[in-house]
Amino acid sequence: MNIGIVGGGQLGRMLAQAGAPLDMRFTFLDPSTQACAAIHGVHLCAEWDDEEAHQALIEASDVITFEFENVSTMALTQLAEQRPAFPPAKALETARDRGAEKSLFQSLDIAIAPIALIESQDDLDRAVAEIGLPAVLKTRTLGYDGKGQKVLRSADDVPGSVAELGDVPLILEGFIDFDHEVSAIAVRGRDGEVRVWPLSRNEHRQGILHRAEPQPDHPLYARAADYATRVLDALEYVGVMAFEFFVTRDGELLANEIAPRVHNSGHWSIEGATTSQFENHLRAVAGLPLGDTTRLVPCAMLNIIGAFPDRDAVLNIAGARLHDYDKAPRPGRKIGHVTVLAPDEATLAERVTAVEALLVNDLG
Ligand code: ATP
Ligand code: MG
Ligand code: MG
Repeated sequence: MNIGIVGGGQLGRMLAQAGAPLDMRFTFLDPSTQACAAIHGVHLCAEWDDEEAHQALIEASDVITFEFENVSTMALTQLAEQRPAFPPAKALETARDRGAEKSLFQSLDIAIAPIALIESQDDLDRAVAEIGLPAVLKTRTLGYDGKGQKVLRSADDVPGSVAELGDVPLILEGFIDFDHEVSAIAVRGRDGEVRVWPLSRNEHRQGILHRAEPQPDHPLYARAADYATRVLDALEYVGVMAFEFFVTRDGELLANEIAPRVHNSGHWSIEGATTSQFENHLRAVAGLPLGDTTRLVPCAMLNIIGAFPDRDAVLNIAGARLHDYDKAPRPGRKIGHVTVLAPDEATLAERVTAVEALLVNDLG
């Protein structure tokens, strides 16, 4: 089967790696000449809205999917008119606007932090009076890895904040003093079947994911899976979607955001689950039966950010599986990851410590 992917970064690269055993062939649309997925298929190097490239992608593909969510509505419509295209446009459009995303959560009775939509400094002043401080001010669109955000800790931080974030539509969220963060990676098939991997416990550093570890016995799994299913069904979603949550000190689950694609916190599933998020995404969009999402062994994933560790030293650690995305190192840029596997939790902790000691991450 021929799969067209809009986006040719590391997520596209890992999708293609997962599709190879299923004899899937890939074509990527990505404006970057450095698109790191390109070695696994045909690379259409053109702007996201380039109509000729869309036509070429359509001709090369039986089905089209996305690893990049900021595609124009025009492009989504054009592609979806001529080929099955998943996830649906409605889902991509909802996920790329924090306002639309939060109102979907509210309409489905999914608990979230207090929020207010902000268009001006006046709006912000009113919202701060209502929500209180500390709070987090975020751009509604285009933010990732904590970019386009400002934590307002005291009244001094409030004046000028709207201009500082670029005078674009913003959202103010109450600051959640969470116990920890988890994500649920879920997949929905064309027939509506939903499967959810074990929750991943996630640790961020400077807003960037550092470590993700699946927790098969997490007490909030059923709640998270229920929330995920509500969203997936409401959007008539097909493919993998990621749900990020805060777990409060009272053990409450609050939805933070969704990502309409395979997700960094699900990379452990390549070696650590019976079926990886990448394979199940492909199975879903291709209309194939979904695979089992059980964790196979204790494992954890560590990101390689900004600078690469000594490869041989990583490879010498038992249970460490190295993924090099072939991306030029830049501060704050995700250029690889290591999944650490172990027969038991104690050995996992030792091996994770050993890998962490080798990381030379540069978060920028
Ligand atoms: P991603 O790279 O996951 O898409 P993002 O840039 O979209 O990230 P968020 O997930 O909204 O940003 O925020 C990044 C991190 O900042 C969160 O994982 C969390 O650690 C922290 N954070 C965000 N919002 C809040 C909040 N309301 N209260 C407390 N911490 C928060
Ligand atoms: Mg995000
Ligand atoms: Mg996030």
